[in-house]
Amino acid sequence: IEKAAILRKKFRIHISGLNVPCPIESFTELSSRYGCKPYLLRNLFERGFKEPTAIQRQAIPILLSGRDCFACAPTGSGKTLAFLCPILMKLKPGSKDGIRSVIICPTRELAAQTTRECKKLAKGTKFYIKVLTKELARCGNFEKIPCDILVSTPLRIEVAMRKSKLDLSRVEYLILDEADKLFELGFVEQIDSVVKACSNPSITHSLFSATLPESVEDLARSIMHDVVRVIIGKKNS
Ligand code: ADP
Ligand code: MG
Repeated sequence: IEKAAILRKKFRIHISGLNVPCPIESFTELSSRYGCKPYLLRNLFERGFKEPTAIQRQAIPILLSGRDCFACAPTGSGKTLAFLCPILMKLKPGSKDGIRSVIICPTRELAAQTTRECKKLAKGTKFYIKVLTKELARCGNFEKIPCDILVSTPLRIEVAMRKSKLDLSRVEYLILDEADKLFELGFVEQIDSVVKACSNPSITHSLFSATLPESVEDLARSIMHDVVRVIIGKKNS
């Protein structure tokens, strides 16, 4: 049996989609196979992360390959790192090209937490990582503020697009985190306008969720192309 199948069975990774990259066996494989810079491995190990979790094993290589990814894994299973690692590996830090990654979280607390995690992982680099505050959203001059990775709630980013002419046309990675909560809280319209504003044709979309309601499946179908679906644990019907 091929290695990918063995790893998926061992870690209860269920996938659908064509030509799905093999799960990683360890974080060090990120450098041996994917050219990951030493700072990231150092920061992961410094944080005490020795082995990738199941969702990290499969979602990281999918996002690195530039495929849209729809990932469902239980709360506490390490979804944050599953999207932060590939973003940090693929984007050029400190670039003058404007915002290249947007991470949408359902609440301000989660946005703040994700920003902190991202900064810890990016320690030692020149990445500009910003959480969208109320002030920034209302009157931020984004042409002057260096920002590679922007973390926001749906409401704030919509305000920033309307009032501060936030330019999302160069975004390469758009992440919708806790997609089930984004739905429950009724943010479909805001998400729609963010998706439309991210007009870069080579963008990678990904959607992370703890549960798989039909509403989230519908959203995935409407915004993603050539998508790989990853489900950890119990197979969902
Ligand atoms: P989720 O978003 O799936 O609910 P989080 O990304 O918030 O989960 O991670 C849950 C906890 O697990 C966090 O405290 C995080 O620091 C920790 N964690 C993430 N990845 C790993 C790993 N590879 N090894 C050990 N702990 C991890
Ligand atoms: Mg999470």
